[in-house]
Amino acid sequence: MTDRVLAEGTGVEVGAGEVRYEVLVGSGLLGNLAALLSQYAPAHRYALICDENVARVHGTTVLEALTARGVDARLYSFPAGEACKTRKNWSMLTDAMLDDRYGRDSCVVAVGGGVTGDLAGFVAATYLRGIPVVQVPTSYLAMIDASVGGKTGVDVPAGKNLVGSFHAPRVVVADTGTLTTLPSAERVQGLVEAFKHGAILAAQYFEWLTSAADRLLAADVETATEAIIRSVRIKADVVTRDEREGGLRQVLNFGHTLGHAIEAASAYGVGHGTAVGAGMLLEAELGQRLGVTEEGTRARIASGLMTLGLSLDSVPSVDVEDVLRFLASDKKARSGRPRYVLLRRLGEVEDDGGWSREIPDSLVRDVLAELA
Ligand code: NAD
Repeated sequence: MTDRVLAEGTGVEVGAGEVRYEVLVGSGLLGNLAALLSQYAPAHRYALICDENVARVHGTTVLEALTARGVDARLYSFPAGEACKTRKNWSMLTDAMLDDRYGRDSCVVAVGGGVTGDLAGFVAATYLRGIPVVQVPTSYLAMIDASVGGKTGVDVPAGKNLVGSFHAPRVVVADTGTLTTLPSAERVQGLVEAFKHGAILAAQYFEWLTSAADRLLAADVETATEAIIRSVRIKADVVTRDEREGGLRQVLNFGHTLGHAIEAASAYGVGHGTAVGAGMLLEAELGQRLGVTEEGTRARIASGLMTLGLSLDSVPSVDVEDVLRFLASDKKARSGRPRYVLLRRLGEVEDDGGWSREIPDSLVRDVLAELA
């Protein structure tokens, strides 16, 4: 993984071998999208895919700018929200592109949050057995996390993200200027993943985020650009070393084993970031009780999350038995047993040969009691 300072921003390289792409980060990159597309993903035609919110605030402007530069592009939109990351919208978008006779020499441009990136990425992965995709993330969550790593997919009745494919983008264009229109609540939710990156692999970054939280919440573009570059470097380094989630990539799941179960037990009434924040606190507590995690780590994570206004009190009471039931069906469970990533200390993950471990239900139940 290397960084390049470009005229239009900074580029972090992700991947190795055949799957290699750059994440460009900077303010104002969208103004240069036509040139970036022709450089990184030359195609006969482009299908811009946005949810309806992003179509309104950015999609139409992007489309007009591309068309003005002679790029053949159309905009396809779908209703916003996680509930719309479905096979139904995958087929609606695919059929619309088929009706418009998009060929194999075309390219999908996913402009939006993580829902759009996952759904449009899956459209590209499957359209005519696969056409290129360019990811243009517009939320913190998508810039920091979802657009890097090549995972695409949709939610199904059996669970979130259960149908999908790995389909790496040709390039990721993260224009931090777009964050100024992102609703405040969404800013908070996405920034939790940045704190997670610091907690697992970069204590100094965690402390910097704590001091920069006000500016990040205000979507100050310089501070946002720095955070996104630092987070993307961390995620890029991990996924480059473990493209298909066999080993090291598990460290990105810190806070997510309990976080996902809390989200599910609340019937998705609790936001993903809020749930992962609670998951990080409780998994740090588990680690401390097991003597694996340095004492005081949970408290440091708590002070960081507090700068985003998040704590365990942000989670309305959930039924501990429900959380335990969802834990047993965790997608990443092995032989029906959920696995946990534990920290040694802030910025360092426990590695006793496997990056994650099982934890006795009785201890998990004790720790979860804080949520009841
Ligand atoms: P989202 O895409 O639903 O975006 C959140 C809300 O913000 C939406 O209403 C959207 O319309 C709006 N929005 C986005 N950018 C905006 C902007 N610049 N201005 C105004 N409004 C804007 O959700 P998200 O939090 O970005 O992403 C969550 C999704 O990402 C989940 O589906 C999750 O599964 C997925 N995800 C994927 C990966 C991966 O590796 N593929 C990793 C993490 C999360």
